[in-house]
Amino acid sequence: MFSLVSPQAEHLIVFDLEWNQSSYTPNHRMPHEIIEIGACRVNRDYQVTGTFSAVIRPRVYKKLDKHIRSVTGITEEELAQGRPFSDVFGEFIQWCGEDAQLCTWGRDDFPVLRRNAAFFMTPMPFEPPIDAQLVFAHACLHSAHQQMNLHNALETMQITVDVPAHRAVYDAQCTAALLASIDGAVRAMDDAQRAQLERTLLREKRIAASSLRSMPTRYVYQSDALADTRLMAVECPACGRRMAFDTPWFDGGREKYLALARCPQHGIAYCQMHFKRIPAGTLIMHQRVYAADEEQIADVREGYRLYQLIPPRKRHHRLSMEEQVKKAGTVQE
Ligand SMILES: [Zn+2]
Repeated sequence: MFSLVSPQAEHLIVFDLEWNQSSYTPNHRMPHEIIEIGACRVNRDYQVTGTFSAVIRPRVYKKLDKHIRSVTGITEEELAQGRPFSDVFGEFIQWCGEDAQLCTWGRDDFPVLRRNAAFFMTPMPFEPPIDAQLVFAHACLHSAHQQMNLHNALETMQITVDVPAHRAVYDAQCTAALLASIDGAVRAMDDAQRAQLERTLLREKRIAASSLRSMPTRYVYQSDALADTRLMAVECPACGRRMAFDTPWFDGGREKYLALARCPQHGIAYCQMHFKRIPAGTLIMHQRVYAADEEQIADVREGYRLYQLIPPRKRHHRLSMEEQVKKAGTVQE
């Protein structure tokens, strides 16, 4: 029987993060710096049996973003009294205990946690969490794509949680308060719906374990960036080794570049890339690489086959691949 708490785990750690950033001078190795970790431990009956809350003194973004200040109520004075990331994260790992199973609301927290741990060179012992927001959407809203915020989800389920503000530990408590209802709704799903949900959760876990790379380039044109083989290289998300391309980078439509790369040990990875222009006029490259499944491998290879059928002069980079194939007229099979 599907359950939010795996059979091996004694409890679930529901966690939430608050982070700070700078829109003007971002550090591309760590675009978001965690300033607070909040969590609660829930048992198999979804009762809260303990909480964790700690403020982190920022090292990179010391000035608090206005929006974050107003949403969380955190002050710069409070941050100055916080402790370094590696101390707080080490304590959090201890508090979680061995083989902790994590749970979050939404898919954003875990990649931020991974990037902060990598930036501060702290060990990262956790597997990707269960995304309660995703399970909620499937089981309670019957809509795989809806991303409802925590407040609305509580309202939908008519659950009241008496917490003072939007701080990490309170958001973790709100998520925990929803778990029993979510689990109940999952149990009410039929086998086909549950199988679909489990497939989606597996894919999300692979995406959550992505390696992310953001890098400012000296290029103004995408074609120049694409010709730079060092910039275009990809590393295995599991072992960090440079991978050989199975399918080279190509424009998969609307200037979202796709590729497949192979690690001898970890198999084929799905690679996504896009560029953003900074005010100075040059491009920043954003890459995401994660373990591919059979369906994605087939999709990318088919996309590349279609891409090659469109003569270079007829390629419209702002269109999707389907629109390009249509526009190019009958293509030579
Ligand atoms: Zn590898």
